[in-house]
Amino acid sequence: MSYFRQNIDLMSGYQPGEQPPAGVKVIKLNTNENPYPPSPKALQVMQNLDGELLRRYPDPMAGEFREAASQVLGVPKEWILVGNGSDDLLTMLMRACADRDRNVVYPMPTYVLYRTLAEIQDGCIAEIPYDDDYQLPVERLIAANGAVTFIASPNSPSGTSIPLELLDKLAAHLSGILVVDEAYVDFAESDALSLVQKYDNVIILRTLSKGYSLAGLRLGFGIAQPSLLEGLIKVKDSYNVDAIAYRIGAAALLDQDYKIANAEKIKTSRTKLTNNLEQLGFKVLPSQANFLLAQPSQKQAEWLYQNLKNQGILVRYFKQPQLEDKLRITVGTEEENAALIKALTQPCGSD
Ligand SMILES: *Cc1c(COP(=O)(O)O)cnc(C)c1O
Repeated sequence: MSYFRQNIDLMSGYQPGEQPPAGVKVIKLNTNENPYPPSPKALQVMQNLDGELLRRYPDPMAGEFREAASQVLGVPKEWILVGNGSDDLLTMLMRACADRDRNVVYPMPTYVLYRTLAEIQDGCIAEIPYDDDYQLPVERLIAANGAVTFIASPNSPSGTSIPLELLDKLAAHLSGILVVDEAYVDFAESDALSLVQKYDNVIILRTLSKGYSLAGLRLGFGIAQPSLLEGLIKVKDSYNVDAIAYRIGAAALLDQDYKIANAEKIKTSRTKLTNNLEQLGFKVLPSQANFLLAQPSQKQAEWLYQNLKNQGILVRYFKQPQLEDKLRITVGTEEENAALIKALTQPCGSD
């Protein structure tokens, strides 16, 4: 006997990466946060906020942020939909599209939340495996005929990016919606924004959590033609973005120079960390994101994960097919990366 729908009883729920309480001193390389502080311009907006803003409901469409995004991306503001993190846009897409008659489709391994949200909606799910090189299985994705198809590019946890031609081909052949989740685009060499001009079934998702160092603010957005956004607006929570988040977020988004400078530092550190891990015998996939998927040569990945944790360094370990022999490691500051390499060179308890 349960109080819940059967699909809720059967699902296990999303397991977020560990978030140690503020003040606990750890080197946190497990949830792909940016190691550098948010834009000083965003922090200044935060410090000058008027408490009166909190008395009233916020703008349901977060117009101020829409304007900023329109300006930065060069698309009309009617093509922007703002969410409480890009997770909120994933929720809207799932609410609007998932059902028992057509599939929710995504390649695996990828962002685990796609499965969780599809399970909540009791949607049919088709998971198409990636091979070990993470080439996009385009034909199989097309054949699965999703009401909605989710592609993270760069993908998590692999860090690999999907060539634009393949995404274009998918968009052209799918009868449903193609979601290109670009949470890590700020660290990548290319993006798929041009597809929204070309196809009315494509939505690009972006977030301020990674590139803009604002994971705690909870702000993300989607870019698509207004006809697609119309359906999502119907199912969104009415005041899904709070009055503070979109004001701070607009200032951060407009400070492109600051974001780009931090991304450049992280990309340089990414190359160095890749080389250092390879010298230690790890196999590392080429990453276009702010993290690396690394396979240790001898020690078991799970053992290393635990050993690092005992030394105060958190990385991500996924006990699931294709990942149980690997670690996902966020690129930190130079000091954090050096501490990681030192800990891996001499794991404690080893001889
Ligand atoms: C981090 C992440 C998100 C979620 O970002 P929020 O804006 O913080 O909700 C979405 N997709 C992928 C692939 C991510 O890694």
